[in-house]
Amino acid sequence: MNKSDGRVVVVGAGIGGMAAAARLAKDGFSVTVVERNDQVGGRARIWQKDGYVFDMGPSWYLMPEVFERFFAQFGKTPADYYELKQLAPSYRVFFGNGEAHDVPPDPAGVRELFARLEPDGGAKLDRYLEEAAYKYQIAVGEFLYRDYRTVFDFLNGRMLTEGLKLNVLGKLDAAVRRRFSDRRARQILEYAMVFLGTSPTDAPAMYALMSHVDLTQGVFYPLGGLSAVAQGLRRLAEEQGVEFRLSTEVVRIATENGRAVRVEARGPDGAAIAFPCDAVLANADYAHVETELLAAADCAYPRRYWEKRVVAPSMFLMYLGVKKRLEKLAHHNLYFQPDWNAHFDTIFKQPAWPDHPCFYVSCITKTDPQMAPPGRENVFVLVPIAAGLDDTDAVRAEYAEKTIRHVERMTGEEIAPHIETQRIFGPRDFAADYHAWKGTALGISHTLFQTAVFRPAMRSRKVANLHFAGQYTHPGVGVPMVMIAAELVAANVRQQLGPA
Ligand SMILES: Cc1cc2nc3c(=O)[nH]c(=O)nc-3n(C[C@H](O)[C@H](O)[C@H](O)COP(=O)(O)OP(=O)(O)OC[C@H]3O[C@@H](n4cnc5c(N)ncnc54)[C@H](O)[C@@H]3O)c2cc1C
Repeated sequence: MNKSDGRVVVVGAGIGGMAAAARLAKDGFSVTVVERNDQVGGRARIWQKDGYVFDMGPSWYLMPEVFERFFAQFGKTPADYYELKQLAPSYRVFFGNGEAHDVPPDPAGVRELFARLEPDGGAKLDRYLEEAAYKYQIAVGEFLYRDYRTVFDFLNGRMLTEGLKLNVLGKLDAAVRRRFSDRRARQILEYAMVFLGTSPTDAPAMYALMSHVDLTQGVFYPLGGLSAVAQGLRRLAEEQGVEFRLSTEVVRIATENGRAVRVEARGPDGAAIAFPCDAVLANADYAHVETELLAAADCAYPRRYWEKRVVAPSMFLMYLGVKKRLEKLAHHNLYFQPDWNAHFDTIFKQPAWPDHPCFYVSCITKTDPQMAPPGRENVFVLVPIAAGLDDTDAVRAEYAEKTIRHVERMTGEEIAPHIETQRIFGPRDFAADYHAWKGTALGISHTLFQTAVFRPAMRSRKVANLHFAGQYTHPGVGVPMVMIAAELVAANVRQQLGPA
């Protein structure tokens, strides 16, 4: 095959799209990435103002081995593209009434913390983390790096033996409650479910493996922010020959006889552009591609399918430039309400703006002072909320004030009068900037029936040469997960096109 038979058009320059593009270009295909925004990174892009550089989306760099494995395929390491630092503490947890604990970067330190939180807590944690490590190894070794095409791929012998050990049918909250009585200990072991777009009461117990990720492997930070990973992937992709077309909105994937033949787009000046293709890799929000870019006859998952999904949360985000040092904050800070189920209920059961939210605050200037002018703090506040909530200017203004008051109470520090730069980003922005279904930040939740083979397929069932990667597909939500998906989808495209 020569290059003109191996033209791959990637729709969307999210982490997953760029990683797959790099991989396919290395294999000799001619790859063009078409992105509607004027930057790469997708949810991992930046906003810059007044000398502040804000990561707009992800801020936790977890599972470093996934990145190492990915870059190794090119004979590279992440260090060739960005500099990583391990955070110490990994993060700080605030429980209200002025109580805060640092979660140390070393397992011995975490053990001591749990021993302080509840009787016999250290020994209980040892046992829990031993199981979490086992689950993690099984997940990485057996389940994450596999594309599931049919339910039989999923329910194979390994799944039936290892899956039971992973406790796929149990729920995380119940499993944690059986072992830990202190709510603070439980919250540290369960909060990461929000990263997966689900609640601890609905998340399968196998996701205990996330505690291996944050408590045993540690939390890292790439200097320059998580967008440094996006920039690194762009450079890697360009080194392999990938062409990027930014500010170019894909409006249609045209098909003939069940095959995509052309990706139609509007360029930066509004002019129509057509990209002929031998394969399309859609990294944009899956629901948008299916319901808006494809003709009804080519659509495998119509609106009624998406209406029935458990949609992952949207987010109320505030990017704040603060004109003073905030002494009480660490790099990553989590605030947990005593009764956090009330907050989860407003996300998954009775959608509403939460009155007493749990939230996350990052202050990357603690590690990377370059991200703000001297003497200032770069503060990012994230409140998970239900997708599809009413997000008007008035609601935002009121909620912003309320949220800043919450953060002030949490830290015991005055913040509002010192804010010199501010931007709010909410459900309507996720919908407008990324075409996100109902303004979701994270796609669909990781409930049992939206995991592995039950996630939307990586290959279209209607269009033979249309592939999907990104957080809606298996293995799911999060930067490391979409890097894994990139590897899987690249293999599918290679298989479909044959050697380049
Ligand atoms: C606020 C926030 C915090 C997060 N925190 C973390 C974290 O700390 N750690 C972590 O690992 N993960 C985190 N995540 C999740 C992680 O960011 C995502 O799972 C991941 O980045 C999604 O990547 P993706 O490849 O699916 O692409 P996306 O980032 O969804 O990118 C898709 C791209 O497609 C483009 N596109 C859409 N429609 C079109 C069109 N018609 N034409 C052209 N282009 C189009 C979009 O503009 C976008 O650039 C966070 C997410 C958010 C929103």
